[in-house]
Amino acid sequence: MEVPLSTHATFDSAAERHQMVALQIAARGIRDPRILEAFRAVPREAFLPVDLAEFTYQDTPLPIGDGQTISQPYIVALMTEALRLKPGDRVLEVGTGSGYAAAILSRVATQVFSVERIEALAYVARRRLERLGFSNVQVLHGDGSVGWLEHAPYDAITVAAGGPDVPETLLSQLAPGGRLVMPVGSTPRRQSLVRVTRRGSDQYDREDLEEVRFVPLIGVEGWGEPATERVHGARATPSRPAAVTKLIREEAEPIASIEGAELGPLLDRIGEARLVLLGEATHGTSEFYRMRARITQELIERRGFNIVAVEADWPDAARVDAYARNLPCPRSGARAFTRFPTWMWRNEEVKNFVEWLRKRNAAVKDPDLRTGFHGLDLYSLHASIQAVLEYLDRLDPEAARIARRRYGCLTPWESDPAAYGQAVTTGSYRSCEEPVVAMLKDLLAKRLDYMSSDGECFHDAVQNARLVASGEGYYRSMFYGSKQSWNLRDQHMFETLETVLSFRGPRAKAVVWEHNSHVGNAAATEMRARGEHNVGQLVRERHGNAAYLVGFGTDRGTVAAASEWGGPMEVKDVRPAHADSYEKLCHDTKTEAFLLHLREPSRKALRDELLSPRLERAIGVIYRPETELLSHYFQAILPLQFDEYVWFDVTSSIAPLDSESGRGMPDTYPFGL
Ligand code: SAM
Repeated sequence: MEVPLSTHATFDSAAERHQMVALQIAARGIRDPRILEAFRAVPREAFLPVDLAEFTYQDTPLPIGDGQTISQPYIVALMTEALRLKPGDRVLEVGTGSGYAAAILSRVATQVFSVERIEALAYVARRRLERLGFSNVQVLHGDGSVGWLEHAPYDAITVAAGGPDVPETLLSQLAPGGRLVMPVGSTPRRQSLVRVTRRGSDQYDREDLEEVRFVPLIGVEGWGEPATERVHGARATPSRPAAVTKLIREEAEPIASIEGAELGPLLDRIGEARLVLLGEATHGTSEFYRMRARITQELIERRGFNIVAVEADWPDAARVDAYARNLPCPRSGARAFTRFPTWMWRNEEVKNFVEWLRKRNAAVKDPDLRTGFHGLDLYSLHASIQAVLEYLDRLDPEAARIARRRYGCLTPWESDPAAYGQAVTTGSYRSCEEPVVAMLKDLLAKRLDYMSSDGECFHDAVQNARLVASGEGYYRSMFYGSKQSWNLRDQHMFETLETVLSFRGPRAKAVVWEHNSHVGNAAATEMRARGEHNVGQLVRERHGNAAYLVGFGTDRGTVAAASEWGGPMEVKDVRPAHADSYEKLCHDTKTEAFLLHLREPSRKALRDELLSPRLERAIGVIYRPETELLSHYFQAILPLQFDEYVWFDVTSSIAPLDSESGRGMPDTYPFGL
C-alpha cells in the first residue's frame, strides 16, 4: 500500500543532490563516476523523518530514531569507494539504518544484502527500499556482527557501526579477493576506518584509512547491549522507588478537574507537532475519554487540528464524520458501532464529544477547517465491501458489477472472516488477495474521473477498498501468528492515518485516540522483543518529534470490560497497581490526577530514573483481574514510550449508551438509538 514519501518536498531535490555531490563528495576526492552518479540519483529526503527534510543535503549525519543516525553522505561515499566495487559484485552491509547507504550501494553493485539489529528500522528500511524500487536490496533483521551466512561469500562487506575489532565471522564470509571496510576502535564512539582484503584462505591485508565516529556495533562480535535496551530481558528490579516518586511529585502538574484543567503548558510542549497521539490504559475508563476529549477540543480550537482519528472501523466512524461535518457520504442509514465491543464507542463520553464537534464544525465557515472524525481499524470487511458497492452503484454501474464479482470471493465468509483465513492457509479455499487488490487499484486509477463528482465520497470509498485489501490480508495472517496480524493491523492504521493527513492537505493536523499499546512507541516495550511494532512507533519514525505521544494510567477504580471475547460488558473493579509498576510510583505521589512531562522534564534526573524498565498495565476489551500480572502487565521504559503521561489515581467505568439516553436525537444521528 502506497504511503506518500514526503509531503514537504518543496525544494528542488535534484539540484540539491548535484550540489551535494560537487561540494561535499567530489571536492573531497571521491572520483568513481558510478558512485557520484548514485549520489545524484538517490533522494536522501526519502530516507529521513519528514521534519528533517530541510536538513537533507547538509554535510552531516542526522537522527533517524532509536538513537541511530543516517551517515554523512561523504562518509558513505568514502566507504563505498574503499570497497573497490566491480560490476557483478555482491555486497553485505551491516547496519541498514535508514537504508540510504544500501540504496547507494545497490546502484554500484549487483546485489546488496543488508542486516539491521533494530527491528523497527529494518522493517521501515525494507518497505522504503521496496517502495522506491531498489529491487536488488534485501534487508534482514538480526545481528550483523555475525554476517548473513545464507548469502555468503561476499565480494565486499561494509559495516556502518564501530566495533572493538573486525569480527572473525565477517572475515570468514569474504570471498577470495573480497574487501571489508569498517570502523574499529577501542571505545564505542571513536574509531579508525580500516580496510581488510582477503588474499587467501587465511591471509588478510589490513590498512587504516581515516579517523571516523560511528554509533557502536552492538552484537555477539561487537559491543554489549546498553542497559536501557534490555527491555525484554529478565524483569528488572525497580530501584529507589521513594526517590523516583518524590521526583514525580515535584515535576507533576496537578489536574484539579478535567473540565477546568489548565492545559496551556501542555499545548506549549506540543508546540508545532502535527500529530498528537492520546492513549488510554483501558478501553472502558470515563476519565480517559473525557480528558482526551478536553485536550482534543483545545487542540482544535487553539492549534488548528482538523482530524480526529480513532481506534474504530472506518465505515462506522464515517457515519459519525458525516454527522459531525454534515457531509453527503456515507449515505447508508445503518447504525454505527454495533460490533463487539460496542461500549468502546457507543458511550456517553463519545456522544458528548461528537455533539460538541458537530456544533463547533457548524460554526466554522471554511469546510477545509472543519474537523473530521475517522476510524483507523480494519475489522469491518463486509461493511466496507458494502460501502464500495453502494458508491459504485451510484457512480459507475459497470464498475459495480465487476466489484461484485471480485468481492464475491469473500462473500461466503461474511459471518466468520477468520474462518476464511484458515481455509486459505490450509489450502481448502482460494486466496482472494488478487481480486481485492485489483479492486483497490481500479478505484485509484479512476481517481480523476470519480474525484470530480465528490472528493469526500471518493476518499471514503477508497478507504473502504483499502480496508478490504488490508482486512483480507489480516485474516490470512492470523494463522501465521499474533505478531504478523498485530503488525499488519497497526501498519494499516498508520497508513490510514497518513492517507487522511495527505487527503486533508499539508496543513492538516491529527489527534489520534487509541489504546496505549498502539500509541506508545512499541520499541520501548517488550513488544519489540516479540518483533511487534505499532502506530506510535511508525509515527515516531516517520514524523520524529513532530509527533507527540501521550500515555494514560490509573491505579484503581472501575472499568467497563468483558471477561471473554464476544461476552457482555461488565463493570469490573480494577485492582490496585503492582508494586513494581510505573503506576505504583504515580500512586505513591498521593496526587489525585496530574500531567507528567517526560520528553524534556525540567529535572533531568526524573527522566533518567524512569529509564529503568518497569511493569506497566494494559487493560483492553477483556479484563481478567484474577490473572492480572500474567495477562495485563508488560515491561516498558516509560519516557521512551511516551512524551507525556496523564495520571488519574482513581477512575470509573464509561457510561454505555442505552435507548433512554438517545431519546429525541435526530434521525441522522450515527449511533442510531
Ligand atoms: N547505513 C545507514 C544509513 O544509511 O542510514 C546508517 C547506519 S547507522 C550509522 C548504524 C546502524 O547500525 C544503526 O542503525 C544500528 O542499529 C546498526 N547496528 C548496530 N549494531 C548492529 C549489528 N550488530 N547488526 C546490525 N546492525 C547493527
